[in-house]
Amino acid sequence: MNIHEYQAKAVLAEFGAPIAKGVAVFSVKEAEAAANELGGPVWVVKSQIHAGGRGKGRFTEDAAGEAGGVRLSRSVAEVVANAQQMLGNTLVTHQTSPAGRPVNRLYIEEGSAIARELYLSCLVDRENGRVAFIVSQEGGMNIEDVAAETPEKIVTVHVDPAAGYTSHIGRSIAYALGLEGGQIKQCDRLIAALYRAFTEKDMSLLEINPLVVTESGDLLCLDAKINFDDNALFRHPDIDELRDPGEDDPKEVEAEENDLSYVALDGDIGCMVNGAGLAMATMDIIKLYGAEPANFLDVGGGASKERVAIAFKIITADPNVKGILVNIFGGIMRCDVVADGIIAAVKDVGLEVPLVVRLEGTNVEEGKKIIAESGMNVISADDLDDAAQKIVAAVGGGVQ
Ligand code: GDP
Ligand code: MN
Repeated sequence: MNIHEYQAKAVLAEFGAPIAKGVAVFSVKEAEAAANELGGPVWVVKSQIHAGGRGKGRFTEDAAGEAGGVRLSRSVAEVVANAQQMLGNTLVTHQTSPAGRPVNRLYIEEGSAIARELYLSCLVDRENGRVAFIVSQEGGMNIEDVAAETPEKIVTVHVDPAAGYTSHIGRSIAYALGLEGGQIKQCDRLIAALYRAFTEKDMSLLEINPLVVTESGDLLCLDAKINFDDNALFRHPDIDELRDPGEDDPKEVEAEENDLSYVALDGDIGCMVNGAGLAMATMDIIKLYGAEPANFLDVGGGASKERVAIAFKIITADPNVKGILVNIFGGIMRCDVVADGIIAAVKDVGLEVPLVVRLEGTNVEEGKKIIAESGMNVISADDLDDAAQKIVAAVGGGVQ
């Protein structure tokens, strides 16, 4: 799960990381009040969306022309004007889709005088099974470009889980970042705080780009992006509350509310499958025959007719879906329940694309009979191979 920058900064501040003063706002009026409260003389008006690259982003309706999604403002009037242009507007960045993301929240922050922009992130290095800090003196810009062009400017420091954080780690990072004097002690404290935040809150990614050295020589987290491990969210109701449903794919939200594992993908064949292993095998075989799956949807082991119907509706709601493959192995799940669910959903929302159904296992005969007698235009398949070939042919794709 992702959260907004202002929320990430509040989480980091709880652990003692240095951030600038700021106020999250939802309206122009609140933006004006926040600007007055912060007092200036310089403010930064920051669009809050779950994507980076805001500074260099562009609004789809931009009265101000070239200014991006992060704007320095030198008067309350300028804060108000920027808030007016940003709120309700759509921001397109290199990390959003070309359609962009709606901006419904802003963070009004006191402006900082920047001497240096550094890069810092923390993640779980799966190869080593350790938390790693990745830092670079080339902050504020695209770290992907730095990695591609000057990889030697990126330094990785691992934390031994048995020893935990030690000052040695903070000092190594300070050295890599070219910090000096009192900044070294500040870096030590910062990294200790970030490591504690990362592990205690079950983060999977923490990125501070830029981490800045201010003109007065202090470290400050100027941006913050956090991704939490969804599987650990049950331990963090405070984090779960920070969810912004406006940022989530509505189909994924509906699936989650109904205990369905659903991930939207880029292809055009919608898949309804039970069991993650079978779902992966189904995606593989669709690709084998030259097409691409539109989603990963696992209805689980013992889904009810209602849940099958919801799953089917979620798939048909995706405009990219040109055909649907239902591939169910009835173990605990009964094939007749699946058939009933599909028919209920089709009655409700209709069926405008080809549907291939492959059922096997418990009550398979009843299931096939229900579908055959439903009058629906269904292509039935004998096995997974047959099913995949039939759906790929039905959408007119694939290799011969
Ligand atoms: P991102 O583009 O989504 O990563 O948004 P950031 O929060 O990183 O802001 C983009 C850029 O705006 C930063 O790299 C800074 O150069 C600049 N910026 C952000 N806050 C301030 C500030 O308080 N003062 C100044 N001078 N620049 C800022
Ligand atoms: Mn940034």
